[in-house]
Amino acid sequence: MSQERAIAHLEAIRQDIRDEIKKRVQQRDRYSIQLTIALSAIVAVSFSNPDWSKVLIAAPLVSIYFTMLILYSYRVHRISAAYLREKIEPELARLCETSPDIEWEKYYQAHAVPGIRESFFKWALWVVTIASLVYLWTLESKNCGFIIALSLTTAAYIGTALWIMCAFRREKKAMRDWPQKTAPRYRNAVFLDRDGTINVDTHFPHRIESLEFIPKAIDGLRLLATLPLDIIVASNQAGIARGIFTRNQMSQFNAELRTRVEDAGGRIDAFYFCPHLEMKHLRPGDSPCACSKPSPGMLLEAAMDFKLDLSKSFLIGDKTSDIAAGESVGCVTILVKTGKEGKEEGALPVKPEYLAENLYDAALILQSYLEPGKVN
Ligand SMILES: [Mg+2]
Ligand SMILES: [Zn+2]
Repeated sequence: MSQERAIAHLEAIRQDIRDEIKKRVQQRDRYSIQLTIALSAIVAVSFSNPDWSKVLIAAPLVSIYFTMLILYSYRVHRISAAYLREKIEPELARLCETSPDIEWEKYYQAHAVPGIRESFFKWALWVVTIASLVYLWTLESKNCGFIIALSLTTAAYIGTALWIMCAFRREKKAMRDWPQKTAPRYRNAVFLDRDGTINVDTHFPHRIESLEFIPKAIDGLRLLATLPLDIIVASNQAGIARGIFTRNQMSQFNAELRTRVEDAGGRIDAFYFCPHLEMKHLRPGDSPCACSKPSPGMLLEAAMDFKLDLSKSFLIGDKTSDIAAGESVGCVTILVKTGKEGKEEGALPVKPEYLAENLYDAALILQSYLEPGKVN
């Protein structure tokens, strides 16, 4: 990839991540205000009339809900900022021969230092919860209905916890599916699409019986295993969100695929998958997740886990959405003519760097990149 293109890619990623961080900061401000208003309203109502004092029981619930959202927002903020600081900025500075962006660093520092504010939220949650429950206890201890109230509170807490878990799921992060964490080896990777690139893309393949390798795919994986690259499968598995198969079925399918690849002398270092709906199946108004290709979420998460240099990594896939995901983070992209051949419904106007007949031909292209001397 040319220098200018690499810089343009990195700048685009930098902008995306900065936007993400700004969004998180605003999101936390919003949550804090909502939390304050909700708590004030509950306290005001519960003290305005002795009959309404039980309303106070809602205070811990509201606090738990918002605090979890705020803490999660901090987490995303930290991960994004670390990626920016440790990968993108140094790489850009190196390519452009400049120093990292000071102005942004100031903005980040002003809003980052999550220590105090983050622990403030944690402590506030405890204080609100304990204070409300102690107050209610002293108020209601002579009341035999208190046991019922306490039971209801417990049920409500469990309900809130479930609600929060759902909220976290809505954050829509990519997921990992590999048995033990493989140590990063090479600092660059080849990202492989699964269905239509490695195995035949029967409609939502998930049964082990329907696992069938595309001709030459195993040869390709065997060749890739000889190259200095981490081999990472990144696959949209919207069948999970659509209820066609379960995550467990997908894991079994992946495990079988991996075993067969290993038996044939190949290797797969990790599986990442997006269990969410793809853009075309979203209901109007629902926002897409960050991991479903063409979004690069899975590649970014793998880059964090494996400390990858994405601008020195590769992507091989059979759809334009695969190519778009790779392109948006600066990978060298190869479209294979197996599977959908880049002609899927709603194909994107992207141009892969290379076209290859199958995974083996794609692996040969990678070999010529990485070991130019060895290719005749
Ligand atoms: Mg595919
Ligand atoms: Zn997703």
